Amino acid sequence: MHRLSQLKLVLAASSLATAAAVAGAQAQTDVHRDAATRNVGGDAFMTQYSRAFYCNLPDDNNAIVVAARAWNNTTGANNNQYRIPLTQIFDDVWFVGNHYVGQYMIKTPDGFVQVDSGNNANEFKTFNYPALQSLGMSASYPLKAIFLTHGHGDHDGGAQWALDNLGTRSSIGSADATGKSYNPIQIDSTNLAMRQMTIGGKTFWILPTPGHTPGSTSAVLEVKDWGQTKRVLINGGQSMTNSIPQVAQYLDSIERTYTMATALNVDGVMTPHIYWDGEGVKLDEINAKGRTNPSQNIYGHESVMRQLAVARECSAAWLTRLDSTAVLPVWRFNTIEFVDGGPTPTKVAARVSNGWGPVNGQMVTFSVEETGANCTATTGADGVASCDVRPLRPHKDYLKAKFAGGQNASYVDLPAETSALVCSNGNCNAH
Ligand SMILES: [Zn+2]
Repeated sequence: MHRLSQLKLVLAASSLATAAAVAGAQAQTDVHRDAATRNVGGDAFMTQYSRAFYCNLPDDNNAIVVAARAWNNTTGANNNQYRIPLTQIFDDVWFVGNHYVGQYMIKTPDGFVQVDSGNNANEFKTFNYPALQSLGMSASYPLKAIFLTHGHGDHDGGAQWALDNLGTRSSIGSADATGKSYNPIQIDSTNLAMRQMTIGGKTFWILPTPGHTPGSTSAVLEVKDWGQTKRVLINGGQSMTNSIPQVAQYLDSIERTYTMATALNVDGVMTPHIYWDGEGVKLDEINAKGRTNPSQNIYGHESVMRQLAVARECSAAWLTRLDSTAVLPVWRFNTIEFVDGGPTPTKVAARVSNGWGPVNGQMVTFSVEETGANCTATTGADGVASCDVRPLRPHKDYLKAKFAGGQNASYVDLPAETSALVCSNGNCNAH
């Protein structure tokens, strides 16, 4: 064969390979966008907010984020409808800000801790300062600290004013601290492990989540909601860039956030950019009708985890769009529920399912913590696993059903569990 023909063959083969890679990448992106939709589980509110905003880039729908930037009213002038007044969301937490970005004020026994600092000095002085005063801030009950989710101006713009006028230091991820005039306390961004930190006397579970910026930091906090302790997630930076390494970091950060929120049984949110998950709508509702019990900001553990699974799939969709060589398993959000309304001593059965249908051939463990009684079974084509747990005492034992999760090359099935009080034989549906 002539060398020229050989060359042509090589060229033809390589352009075919490129075309296949492009087609594969397109399919990958669509697979993950579809997975994000399936992980919503039919929740209309989550479809309208988390699904749309986390997937805005792979959906070619960045216009919704651009539009939201127009709501960033920092003065209260002209279009006041974008400002949100000081709003109590928990017994010990208040929000102030606008429909684009806001700050949270947390009351502790000896002062306040604030999450983020607003866009600029004037906004802090005009809104945050009077808000804190109205909540009882004084020389003996000060603003002790500010936790900054990251170093962009719409989050740290008021940090210098707080330092100069209130003597309040801010804490920020070390990778975002360079060149900051407000002398921040640095949270080590190179240590990606979740750990507890005390910021202004308040305990935070800190998780560095680089991707939006190198120093983005997420956190979980304990708050009081009508006297009950709840754990809420603070998301450290939501929009993605066009850089493959940064989006890969962002994806990893969401996956680690998922792990943290599972481990800490998080069931609420305190997001700085309230439009991403629809929190702005809930704040309006609190102001119109009052705070519900539980608070509008308590979404429930399943809902928070679904939201994160949606965000993970949107991030996977964007990464596979940017990097045609990336192939990522799909994260499938699973639920497990007892059949026929609940377990009885003669019927212990639970169904595992997800947005793709029943989950077949997976192990479910049933157990009673107090007695140690347990059994395991494998799900059938209908997703149902069933076995005998003995002894099982009606109206006394809480039975837990747990699917530990599973994975192969194409998907990761996320773990799921549920528990219920055991009913008498035959009357579970009456409950
Ligand atoms: Zn930002």
